[in-house]
Amino acid sequence: MAGAAQEEDKKLFDSGAASTLVGELRDAFASGATRGYRWRESQLRGLLKMTDDHEQDIVAALRSDLGKPEPESVLYEVAMVRNACKLALKELQHWMMPEKVKTSLTTFPSSAEIVSEPLGVVLIISAWNYPYLLSLDPVVGAIAAGNAVVLKPSELAPATSALIAKLVGEYMDSSSIRVVEGAVAEATALLEQKWDKIFYTGNGRVGRIVMAAAAKHLTPVVLELGGKSPVVVDSGVNLQIASRRIIVGKWGCNNGQACVSPDYIITTRDLAPKLVDALKNELEMFYGKNPLESKDLSRIVNSNHFNRLTKLMDEDKVSDKVVYGGERDPTKLQIAPTILLDVPRNCLIMNEEIFGPLLPILTVDKVEESFDIINSGGKPLAAYIFTNDKKLKEHFVKNVSAGGLVVNDTTVHVAVHTLPFGGVGQSGMGAYHGKFSFDAFSHKKAVVYRSFMGDAAMRYPPYTNGKLRLMKALLGGSILDILRAIFRRS
Ligand code: NAD
Repeated sequence: MAGAAQEEDKKLFDSGAASTLVGELRDAFASGATRGYRWRESQLRGLLKMTDDHEQDIVAALRSDLGKPEPESVLYEVAMVRNACKLALKELQHWMMPEKVKTSLTTFPSSAEIVSEPLGVVLIISAWNYPYLLSLDPVVGAIAAGNAVVLKPSELAPATSALIAKLVGEYMDSSSIRVVEGAVAEATALLEQKWDKIFYTGNGRVGRIVMAAAAKHLTPVVLELGGKSPVVVDSGVNLQIASRRIIVGKWGCNNGQACVSPDYIITTRDLAPKLVDALKNELEMFYGKNPLESKDLSRIVNSNHFNRLTKLMDEDKVSDKVVYGGERDPTKLQIAPTILLDVPRNCLIMNEEIFGPLLPILTVDKVEESFDIINSGGKPLAAYIFTNDKKLKEHFVKNVSAGGLVVNDTTVHVAVHTLPFGGVGQSGMGAYHGKFSFDAFSHKKAVVYRSFMGDAAMRYPPYTNGKLRLMKALLGGSILDILRAIFRRS
């Protein structure tokens, strides 16, 4: 009966219901309840406790939604949310403190500071591939910054979505933090409302819909999107270690269904066969001779994505390029790690984000040619290079534009909380993680303090040449010019 009532509630979530919800949260925010340190701290503690108490439920939900192996769920979803909460709890008082800044002669005597204030009522829309992390990591930033929050998890990870809705209701302050489950209709009803910030994780097509909806209310957005993240492999590197780090970033991250997974490799014609051999060896060590039987690989999220991926590898232009893998099981939605060598650049697999276990390799004569290939596409969310060549590293860092770069590894930048995580260009806008999450949900208010001392007559009419000279000198900032202007007659 309760289930039927819940179903009915879900169906009824239309624009009117969304408007009522936002109204309630606006009232809660206006009451000041979310602004104080105590509320923020208690909500972070609630989220931490919820994650600790329910680790096994989270692991089970992720297994049900994605067949995600427990170590991946624990390390990349549970532990990352836990660490985000712990860091925020440790640093919150410091983050909330106004930041004193220098003033100039122009406003002398004065002092100034930057005050971080909550934006108000914010909407977070998250994606299915890391459904616990991508839902709750932004929530950490939103509550640390003192906002009221509505979270809409992805309908494509229904077990995790239902678990989050239930647990947030139990562990957090439901007058200011709500979860709305649902799909496009519910997201659309939410997007019609006026928010103070929208934080969206997902693909660029929907990112455009989110941004258009936000524009109607002049609402700022963070868009955490994806892209084709390349890996450049230079000669002279330890191929075994490079292969392992590519494999763990690709297949060890939700079987390639991760926004920062390596999407394709670029290497030289000479090195390609050796790299393929190294990848094959390590893949076999990790996942055995029949990877479809491995418990250490996630499955594909649903049949739509399964069909999309098989279409990419079965295209006429590339089907004979498979040098490893290719096995699939539609009944279990499994696709084995698959490597394709020397795919042409005008094939489907090179023209969309793969977001799955297929890894094409492009070959070039000289490794430097990789940069033109990367820069000819949309700016990726991440880019990786394996090299020992100092000049090549410098060239890569200077000339490749991507959300983040890693030299001699893949995906690890995501775990460095002192680095901003976000895209550029087509891979998104805005960033979060660590203090950047707090900043993403705060307004940086400029405040100048003055007293009644030092009231300068030159600001006030009637304007004279002498006043103008003095003002120019003050703006110029040279003490000598200021003294000259003071002692010169008007
Ligand atoms: P998805 O299908 O779960 O969609 C994301 C969210 O958008 C969901 O909550 C969904 O309900 C909502 N949505 C879908 N259609 C909508 C519409 N028409 N209007 C309003 N809302 C709508 O996830 P996805 O888009 O398949 O996610 C995969 C993409 O996300 C990939 O491109 C990946 O690279 C990117 N991604 C980026 C990050 C990051 O942190 N930068 C993380 C994960 C995924």
